[in-house]
Amino acid sequence: MKATNPILSSYGTTIFTVMSALAAKHGAINLGQGFPEGLEPPAVLRAAARAAEAGPHQYPPMMGIPALRQAVATHDRTFYGLDLNPETEVMVTSGATEALADCLFGLIEPGDEVVLIEPLYDSYLPIVRRAGGVPRLVRVAPPDWTLPRAALAEAFNDRTKLVLLNSPMNPSAKVFDEGELAFVADLCIRHDAYAVCDEVYEHLVFDGRHHVPLMTLPGMRDRCLRIGSAGKTFSVTSWKVGYIVAAPALLAPVAKAHQFLTFTTPTCLQNAVAFGLGQDRAVLEHLAVDMAARRDHLASGLRGIGFPVLDSAGTYFLTADIRGVGFEGDDEAFCRHITEHAGVTAVPFSAFYQDPAAAPRHYARFCFAKLDSALDEAVTRLTRHFGQG
Ligand code: PMP
Ligand code: GLN
Repeated sequence: MKATNPILSSYGTTIFTVMSALAAKHGAINLGQGFPEGLEPPAVLRAAARAAEAGPHQYPPMMGIPALRQAVATHDRTFYGLDLNPETEVMVTSGATEALADCLFGLIEPGDEVVLIEPLYDSYLPIVRRAGGVPRLVRVAPPDWTLPRAALAEAFNDRTKLVLLNSPMNPSAKVFDEGELAFVADLCIRHDAYAVCDEVYEHLVFDGRHHVPLMTLPGMRDRCLRIGSAGKTFSVTSWKVGYIVAAPALLAPVAKAHQFLTFTTPTCLQNAVAFGLGQDRAVLEHLAVDMAARRDHLASGLRGIGFPVLDSAGTYFLTADIRGVGFEGDDEAFCRHITEHAGVTAVPFSAFYQDPAAAPRHYARFCFAKLDSALDEAVTRLTRHFGQG
């Protein structure tokens, strides 16, 4: 038989699926894959139910239903002061995962360089490579994940087509500050590069900080493609409703990728998300308050067992140093071990690097977006297993 595409075939099953399957097999509390529990807003669920009942159930417009495109534009004006034309500058996608693929397939020409920051979300590299892009990886390092300015500047050159920036960042839980964003913006402008901005955790920024889209920085309005996800904003990760906002000249080629990949997204879910985005600003802002309490809850439990825990400025995740409990193996062995023997699942941090063998091997990523009862039970089980720190 002829070979299948070697780029995609070279990747294994995603770590989220692997760890969730292992958690299910062992009846473990799943703090691995990033999905929230008990936060689905009832009013948004009711809006989805109403929309499902009322229909229509045939293909919606390719760019997204007008009500949702308008709601995204209004949301981005309310939160970020962006002035977007919903007809030419907003497109609805089937989740941020599709949005990312649309941007990368729509913009990259074979041989173009793409700057990425490690650790990174697992869909980025396969899609960049499948699009013919040449990844240029730069690393942020713990404990504070500061942007390595000299290394980043070195990664840019005239072949750089775009940088992919994820803030708040999965898995490091870093939120890039305005000085760092300005530095990235300056490099984009100097090298005439675009920025694909994965901002799915825009409403999950903690401790009084606010999300700042790179797109709002001077000179960046027409260079950025800003990606959001209703899955994260409304705690409904199965819905797979995402969106891209970008200047018409950038969105047009990206829409071509969308029309050939998924073409549309279920109408009833688009309607529900339009309803959700139209709620009071305070409703969306409350999510971060709730989530920060969960972060603190899990962090203090893990610290009590003896795990040093890094700061988490945003997202669903915190990073724990597995050496704190004297574990002898690497992060993969640790995550497998606690799933099988303690009944708690986390994700090995090294899975978020191009070459896990050359990545930090002593961190595990825990998802704290869970019910208090699940977090308590996870801490109880880990305490029973490792003893008190
Ligand atoms: N980007 C990042 C950084 C993520 O963590 C996720 C995870 N869900 C996605 C994109 C994908 O989002 P969606 O579920 O909307 O496709
Ligand atoms: N974004 C989620 C995470 O980082 C999971 C998404 C997925 O399972 N593909 O855990």
